[in-house]
Amino acid sequence: MNAELSPGLYIVATPIGNLGDLSPRAAHVLANADVVAVEDSRVTAGLLRHIGARRPMTPYHDHNADAVRPGLIARMGGEVVALVSDAGTPLISDPGYKLVRDARAAGHQVVTVPGPCAAVAALTLAGLPTDRFLFVGFLPSRQHARAEAIAEIAGIRATLILYESGPRLSACLTALAEGLGDREAGVAREITKKFEECVTGRLSVLAERYADAPPKGEIVVVIAPPDAPPPASADDRDAALAEALTRLPPAKAAGEVAKRLGLDRKALYARAMEMKGGQ
Ligand code: SAM
Repeated sequence: MNAELSPGLYIVATPIGNLGDLSPRAAHVLANADVVAVEDSRVTAGLLRHIGARRPMTPYHDHNADAVRPGLIARMGGEVVALVSDAGTPLISDPGYKLVRDARAAGHQVVTVPGPCAAVAALTLAGLPTDRFLFVGFLPSRQHARAEAIAEIAGIRATLILYESGPRLSACLTALAEGLGDREAGVAREITKKFEECVTGRLSVLAERYADAPPKGEIVVVIAPPDAPPPASADDRDAALAEALTRLPPAKAAGEVAKRLGLDRKALYARAMEMKGGQ
């Protein structure tokens, strides 16, 4: 039984490059965990060394998760089990959600210790809208599957965030330009590390930039939402109003058309009255 923390599962975010980003709370949980479930014990050993702690580690990754999960769940009843990934927030393009699901099902406490996440860090660098965003993880590497995945998200009115590797970056950007249109984008690389950069531009221009010089290091691509559809023409507006006026009084017709075409309701009402007057 741990003296300082109550038993349960602790999801601990760790730095994505700069060790200074490890929060004091994350360090405290790691230093006091009874066991740390890790992707790669060499990576986490380095982090533990950095905080002057030596804790037992157990591997938890895609290849052994199903086998070791029940044992970890059993331990959470009386011990502090911390989950980390090699970098960033566990569960985000990393293993962990089934551990959380099963911990909850078993009635154990689940605590999150939030911190760095490459997707969110890249979003803060790219200068693209942040009010709605969709994280799509890694796209498939095969051309056809990738094109299908891109087609699936093409209509979504949100900034898109995805992870990619240097050697595949240019082909991925070309496929994105083809499937989404040549949108503005940002390629964020080596975030929080010495050579951090975020290069912005149209997808096709970025694809060309990296075609002969695949960048080194870790990469996040951030892509602008699709352009707003062009405003409805006066003819479209009148046609929609005329149709709505066959069913509704002017105020309601104006309200309905305003919503559908994204136009000003008051102006539509005035136009509806004009149209009615002209009949
Ligand atoms: N769980 C992690 C997180 O919270 O960001 C992501 C894990 S995923 C397996 C690893 C990918 O995250 C890398 O291939 C890269 O696309 C992105 N990534 C991780 N660290 C990064 C960094 N410092 N700069 C840019 N991208 C990074």
